[in-house]
Amino acid sequence: MALTGIEIYKHLPKTNCKECGFPTCLAFAMKVAQKSVAITQCPHLSAEARAALEAAARPPIRLVAIGGNKRKIEVGNEVAMFRHEKTFYHPTGVVVRLKDTAPAEELKRKAEEVVSYQVERVGMKLGLDGLALENASGDPSAFSRALEAVDGQGELPLVLMAGPAALAAVLEKAASRRPLLYAATQDNWEAMAELALKYKCPLAVSEPSGLEALAALVEKIVQKGVEDIIVDPGARDFAASLVTLTQIRRLALKKNFRPLGYPVITFPGEGTKDPEEETLLAAQQVAKYAGVVVLDHFSPASVYPLLTLRLNIYTDPQKPIQVQPGVYQLGAPKETSPLCVTTNFSLTYFSIAGELESSGFPSWLLVCDTEGLSVLTSWAAGKFDAARIAKTVKEFKAGETVSHHSLILPGKVAILKGELEEELPGWQILVGPPEAMDIGGYLKQYWKN
Ligand code: SF4
Repeated sequence: MALTGIEIYKHLPKTNCKECGFPTCLAFAMKVAQKSVAITQCPHLSAEARAALEAAARPPIRLVAIGGNKRKIEVGNEVAMFRHEKTFYHPTGVVVRLKDTAPAEELKRKAEEVVSYQVERVGMKLGLDGLALENASGDPSAFSRALEAVDGQGELPLVLMAGPAALAAVLEKAASRRPLLYAATQDNWEAMAELALKYKCPLAVSEPSGLEALAALVEKIVQKGVEDIIVDPGARDFAASLVTLTQIRRLALKKNFRPLGYPVITFPGEGTKDPEEETLLAAQQVAKYAGVVVLDHFSPASVYPLLTLRLNIYTDPQKPIQVQPGVYQLGAPKETSPLCVTTNFSLTYFSIAGELESSGFPSWLLVCDTEGLSVLTSWAAGKFDAARIAKTVKEFKAGETVSHHSLILPGKVAILKGELEEELPGWQILVGPPEAMDIGGYLKQYWKN
């Protein structure tokens, strides 16, 4: 939570000596609050005041990175309870848990599946963020062998779930991947904190008996010197998870309660035995307020909606996802192929592009800059009118791309046909179907070139 000028002023010497370049300490404090000058510009700050101001300036939820230089998950540093207040910045990391009791071949195969899983949505590549490996056998050498099987599969960030002995056996090799060590508990926290410090790894802190006990354990670990912490409050089912994660977020943001100002890790597979319910619970936790979700089941059918939900939640609602304006080729169109026009809202573009690709008609698609708005919204906002479409036709030389000079308008803006014919003399303006899914049938019926 940012400090106000008055709160900063309370920590200043109040001598109005002007050495900071401002006439009074209060004027200086106001500028610091606006972030236009640094607090270090006052040479008379006491060490205590400096420490207090620096601590207060820290984000209410610490940003924690898991992973090495090639791939990493960054979670935390959120400043809002609700997405309509402000953007959520650091998407929940979705990782899949494997156990060292499985044969090496199976581990390798499953790790490969996770690493290679990728889908494209509205022009963006979506995939999983990491692997968790659990020392379910309790045997450090089995954990070490399992990690070797898993570790060869790309550079995905790791969550290593084991006690201090098993972790110590693998960290010499694995520390460069900067894995999340799971987890410090009341029984092992000193040893786990030492490992986290020695190998410079983030540390998960698990305490299921309540938030007070969790906060007390985190404070002990922070005093040891560990800074990058992820907390596990132990809440597992739907209701407990929602209540507890919301409490943690509120305490961090509204009360500036530092001991719980860390991202949260969740295990939805421990809240239900049903894989479909696990996905539902994971979805709840992506929305409120997990930093890392560890899945026990992985299937493309369950992960795709989860990643789509995450994309929607962590997309800035004030900045619609857009594609570049221009003329796009779908298939291998010729100069006689159909030319359609649409807006540069990604979802609109990919809907019509997908339908054109599967229509059996290689086509051209002219995309207008409507600032990321869909067809009807941009028309209503005056950003998809005849003048703008005509300007785009000329800017991207659509007249040189197709020989027929026919342009297919989205059916929802059929009203633009007359005006567009006036704006584009020599062009034939055709009215396509209102819905993208009907474009194939429309072309079959009407496209004669
Ligand atoms: Fe106040 Fe420090 Fe500025 Fe002097 S230098 S006026 S003490 S803020």
